[in-house]
Amino acid sequence: MRVIPIPCLKDNYAYLVVCDDTQMAGVVDPAEAGVVLRAVDIEGVTLRAVFNTHHHPDHVGGVPELVKAIPNLEVYGHRVDKNRIDGFTRGVEMGDVLSLGNLKIEVIHNPGHTTGGVTYLVEGCAFTGDTLFGGGCGRLFEGTPETLFHSLTKVLGRLPDTTQVFFGHEYTEQNLKFAAQLEPDNEWIHQRLKQVEDTRKRGGITTPSTLALEWATNPFMRCGNLEFIHRVQARDPTVEGRPEEVFTAIRKWKDRF
Ligand SMILES: [Zn+2]
Repeated sequence: MRVIPIPCLKDNYAYLVVCDDTQMAGVVDPAEAGVVLRAVDIEGVTLRAVFNTHHHPDHVGGVPELVKAIPNLEVYGHRVDKNRIDGFTRGVEMGDVLSLGNLKIEVIHNPGHTTGGVTYLVEGCAFTGDTLFGGGCGRLFEGTPETLFHSLTKVLGRLPDTTQVFFGHEYTEQNLKFAAQLEPDNEWIHQRLKQVEDTRKRGGITTPSTLALEWATNPFMRCGNLEFIHRVQARDPTVEGRPEEVFTAIRKWKDRF
């Protein structure tokens, strides 16, 4: 398998996922069609499917044009997004396994950012959309803090540490600046922030990361860590020590950061 990140719009990523045995491809979150069709041409692959992580326009904007350009394109999304994604052909649910050439793609339902948020898992690569970012997570548009916290730490958190995380936006540098402010003593955050700053200065991209790196540096994954809880309570003593309360507090702080 190979994965080709395709920068879209201001800071979005679509991803072309290719089965090397068959040269069949799927695209995750095509915000725009033109750049995707160009990548399909350059790679010399056959586009068979669109994998939508959720219904937001900056992720599905290119779907109608792709459907027009390519006959019999399968357009996947969580079943609750049936009427919210133009061109939708097939609803998916937690635990579904899809095929792309010889690849098997597992569907993980992770609500919180939206009710129909899904991650697609292919050979140890997780395409998380706006649920899990490098150093951060999506905003709570259609869910409670508890729901998103559970999706991040209990649902995605069950995947192996080596899982590669392909996220939906290039927010990593800004996210890690917030993380460094919350945990000034966390050496992993400082190291990662420095690396990310260097990468961005060179015009590079910070996707993918790994789940291990997110556990170590992403504040939204760290709300169950005692040291982290104490850091948050030092900043606001009214925050209770339950991980969900800590998550709720830092999600609010991040919205204003
Ligand atoms: Zn979104």
